[in-house]
Amino acid sequence: MVYLLWLQAGCCGAETTSLLNCEQPDFLAFLEEFDINLIWHPFLSPHNQGKILDILKDLSRQKRKLDILVVEGAIYDGPEGTGKYDLFCGMPFKEWIVNLAKLTRYLVAVGTCACFGGIGASGKNLMEATGLQFFREKKGGFLGEDYRSKENLPVINIAGCPAHPDWITESLVSLAKDEMRSCDLDDFQRPRIFYEKLAHHACPRNEYYEFKASAQCYSQQGCLFENLGCKGTQCESDCNERLWLTRTGSCTRGGFPCISCTSPRFPDGFLPFFETLKIGNIPTTLPLDVPKAWYVGISGLAKLACPKRLLVNATSFKPVKLVFPKVAKNDK
Ligand code: SF4
Ligand code: SF4
Repeated sequence: MVYLLWLQAGCCGAETTSLLNCEQPDFLAFLEEFDINLIWHPFLSPHNQGKILDILKDLSRQKRKLDILVVEGAIYDGPEGTGKYDLFCGMPFKEWIVNLAKLTRYLVAVGTCACFGGIGASGKNLMEATGLQFFREKKGGFLGEDYRSKENLPVINIAGCPAHPDWITESLVSLAKDEMRSCDLDDFQRPRIFYEKLAHHACPRNEYYEFKASAQCYSQQGCLFENLGCKGTQCESDCNERLWLTRTGSCTRGGFPCISCTSPRFPDGFLPFFETLKIGNIPTTLPLDVPKAWYVGISGLAKLACPKRLLVNATSFKPVKLVFPKVAKNDK
């Protein structure tokens, strides 16, 4: 039996909502199948606050076992480092985390707020919010860069706004089976298996992207990169391969540009979300792995070579069927 405690810090609850959308198996079957005992969850447990206080005290005195501590939401340090913006069971939430982080075998940050500060730390960061072991791209965060859980792993960051339910459940299974190693994590402590692709990979608009056949406004079929702010080429996630909600959807499949929600720099580093900033005709933020000079050269050529089928459809609101030109006999 694996004992899991889920706590919520400064958050909107979207990670829990996303988790409840897990399929094959659903959430209850998932707990049963992998022998996970959910000690307590703020939305899902019927206990009142008195009961959770008893649980927290027992865990702190090591009268109960704690295998996996999941934290959803940013740690609020304000005002002025007191943590009093977020009180939980009579004391600043952050103090519970200090106690429990020492005792848990694994510590998991779910959602970009818990990982890197995310929405909670955006703008002027009035709440003095931070992620558990990162603040944006800088290692350290609330627990400091040397933190290790009892199994000698750093905080495991399941980034996303929200995180895909598979990213959460498959990571928990890997921990429940003691199979996750530090080499399975990337530089931002995210499990590589979910974050080594780009959201752009397998987007159905890829062919439009290759020929720089771009949508001019929403609901058109072209690529959303050149004009509508899509960050899919800069965002590490497997959204368009894994797919969401009955395995049919993704942001770009729904016509919504990727806003790079799994990145440590989200959200402030990707503003404006729905507009592509450019110098001349060149977007200021380019695909992660393409040098600027190459991009400029290749995109110019690609536009010249763009088939009419893509050119017409890129700015059309519904598919336009064009007859393929016949291949001349001497071209065969
Ligand atoms: S819409 Fe975004 S993710 Fe899709 S092909 Fe264009 S840049 Fe890539
Ligand atoms: S496509 Fe981009 S913005 Fe949408 S969920 Fe995936 S990573 Fe987040």
